[in-house]
Amino acid sequence: MATEPKIVSASTLVTTNPATGEVLGELSCSTPDEVRASVLRAKAAQPQWQATPVRERIQILRRFQQLLNERRDELARLICREAGKPTAEALVTEISVVLDTAEFCIRRAHNFLRPQPLPHRNPAMKTKRGKLVREPYGVIGIISPWNYPFSIPAIETLAALITGNAVVLKPSEFTPLIGLELERLLHAAGLHPDLMQVVMGEAPAGAALTESPIDKLIFTGSVATGKRVGEAAARRLLPVVLELGGKDPMIVLDDANLEIATSGALWGAFMNAGQTCLSVERCYVHRSLYQPFLALSRDKIARLRVGNGLDSEVEIGPMIHGRQLQIVEAQVNDAVARGARLLAGGKRLSELGPNFYAPTLLADVTHEMRIMQEETFGPVLPVAPFDSDEEAVRLANDSDFGLAASVWTRNRRRGEAMARKIKAGTVMLNDMISCFGIAEAPHGGFKQSGIGRTHGELGLHEMVQVKYVDVDLVPGMPKVWWFGYGRKYQQQMEGFIDLLFARRWTAKLRGALRAAGLPRRSNRI
Ligand code: NDP
Repeated sequence: MATEPKIVSASTLVTTNPATGEVLGELSCSTPDEVRASVLRAKAAQPQWQATPVRERIQILRRFQQLLNERRDELARLICREAGKPTAEALVTEISVVLDTAEFCIRRAHNFLRPQPLPHRNPAMKTKRGKLVREPYGVIGIISPWNYPFSIPAIETLAALITGNAVVLKPSEFTPLIGLELERLLHAAGLHPDLMQVVMGEAPAGAALTESPIDKLIFTGSVATGKRVGEAAARRLLPVVLELGGKDPMIVLDDANLEIATSGALWGAFMNAGQTCLSVERCYVHRSLYQPFLALSRDKIARLRVGNGLDSEVEIGPMIHGRQLQIVEAQVNDAVARGARLLAGGKRLSELGPNFYAPTLLADVTHEMRIMQEETFGPVLPVAPFDSDEEAVRLANDSDFGLAASVWTRNRRRGEAMARKIKAGTVMLNDMISCFGIAEAPHGGFKQSGIGRTHGELGLHEMVQVKYVDVDLVPGMPKVWWFGYGRKYQQQMEGFIDLLFARRWTAKLRGALRAAGLPRRSNRI
């Protein structure tokens, strides 16, 4: 029997190991009043944090980074036990990514938060000096999923904190212990406890956070829930960032290195048991390579090691829970019923534990099948042939999603030209998913994949409101655009506009003469 987390009463949730069903802990769910109280505490603590010099905020991030590095093995084991992924993957795709993001925030903070001078081009404004000042929103609410239970909330939390915000996080009900560990590490690093708080529970706790007096919400999850969250936020004009998953295409061109492309495809489709928003969800292979690609992929799949990720030899762990497994099974069955060829997998591995699904290779898939339309979020590689670059681009863009894509070719120029035609937030050449590990690279999508960006400098921008501050350097001088209009004034203004924007120099010169001699001070009001 596949496992489900059990809400044993309205106020308690039980978290389990998806590989074994072992109970890992029982936690109290936060009531809506408790969620609201957490947000109010964060609101009260935030102004002091905003006033704290950036170098002191950096010190806290530095201590967090050191503590995380010291405790990385312990945390990797927890991530493996609660989310199911192999410990090596927890180290590489969660902990190392967060360590690097901390480094990015630490190095970037001063420059990013320094007021930015805004030079004025217009001669009429030359007596003014403008600058852009970046100020925190206040309290950032974060609702995060179970598939990257540490890195997703941690990356967003670090960006929020370094820019002077407080954070209230609602982790997924399936991975609450990992969310609590993030809170614990930040508190141990010296952060005031009210500046980063975790609230517990399933959907009602997330809904309560959306309704609470937070100042911005960063949500990662499904399109359906993202739309519900977006609607609730719109009712009170709460700004949101929505990261809603993908249906990422992988395009293998006729000049690709087959050995590399097949290894990439398997990692891209099966890593984290395929439960990655940037997973390869559709693979299009040029017809000249199609059969060898399928044969080599099938051989390599036979060598993959599936099991409990606590065993360091294991490459693919269990899926998160039975409901997710059923989604994948239904999509694979639908594809086979509509004519796809099942070349590997396509079945549960019950002998390994409750939630294991074999890495699955499907050939001859078409866009009429659910597996090519809906997010699968499971260890499945569906492959289809194409005949021309144009067809590959058309197939890649034939999706409601647009998170990321990859193009596999030995010709960089050809690959980049194709990247420009694909409608996605990220296009990688000869790799996939690893953009998530580049702290500088923005993460977010086109179309139904969401709104806004996390990660990198664009992720920092999402955490601040920009204020324009303007200083008049000649405060004793009345401004020519103030009252005191009249015929002469109008002529002068017309002359001034000609001086600035007329195309011929003779018209500019005439404009300059008409503009000369500002209205007398006594005419101004
Ligand atoms: P959801 O979108 O339902 O959950 C994501 C987060 O939102 C969780 O923390 C969840 O809490 C919370 N949540 C659920 N309902 C509400 C609500 N009404 N208001 C506020 N927050 C809410 O994803 P699922 O876990 O149900 O996964 C379903 C599908 O979503 C997957 O098959 C996959 O296709 C996609 N998905 C995409 C992800 C991505 O990276 N973009 C991540 C996860 C899933 P709780 O878990 O406690 O219910």
